[in-house]
Amino acid sequence: MSPVEIADGVFFVHSEMVNWVLLTDGDAVTVIDTGYPGQRGDVEESIRAIGRDPRDVEAVLITHAHVDHIGSAQYLGETYGASVLVHPAEAAHARRECHEVATPWDVLSNIWRPGVLSWAIELVRLGGTAKYGIDFPTPMPVPGALNCPGAPVPVLVPGHTSGHTVYHLPDHGVVISGDALITGHPTSPISGPQLLPRWLNHYYGTAAESLGIIAELGADILLPGHGPIHRGSVAEAAATGRERAGLR
Ligand SMILES: [Zn+2]
Ligand SMILES: [Zn+2]
Repeated sequence: MSPVEIADGVFFVHSEMVNWVLLTDGDAVTVIDTGYPGQRGDVEESIRAIGRDPRDVEAVLITHAHVDHIGSAQYLGETYGASVLVHPAEAAHARRECHEVATPWDVLSNIWRPGVLSWAIELVRLGGTAKYGIDFPTPMPVPGALNCPGAPVPVLVPGHTSGHTVYHLPDHGVVISGDALITGHPTSPISGPQLLPRWLNHYYGTAAESLGIIAELGADILLPGHGPIHRGSVAEAAATGRERAGLR
């Protein structure tokens, strides 16, 4: 999972199970999403692969508080002193005061679908069943660009979770979309812009409506939380997602 430099100082790290993004400004690094707990070594290795050290991480941002995106968030904060910033609307979820996630029953009742059993086995192997949160997330100041390497602009896009946040890099025409708009997933039979399967979204209808928010962001590169990079109009990608979700 070698980081790929998508634009100046914007690195996309793709793995079969989940992706993350590194933004640099000089030596300083912002990490957006942090993989599963079992991918800690991969996260650190990706930082070294771009010529930085984990101690250069100034900020850790998350798109949302599912375990496949926060696996090393608290660790990077505690170990290297990085700020762990969460949208205020996702903070309670990050602290696990609520939990907006598929239950074991949701998984079991969909286990017959192609890809779900092997995905669930891999999820367990990567520590995805751990009761894992972020104890003391710092609520990020919104709206506007954040004062951290890469100056990403957080945009609230609720539905997958209540406080799901995408990050816009207006200077680069990039949207880092987390699970609000993906391009592939082990449990999905199709590739290209789409929502996660209905049972993996906490509020599916809201997630579909929120694609309209993503469509308004000027961008032509989509870096999703799952699946490969998508090049081309992000507005059109969001429209494809809406169509596939049954909205026009
Ligand atoms: Zn998620
Ligand atoms: Zn995810």
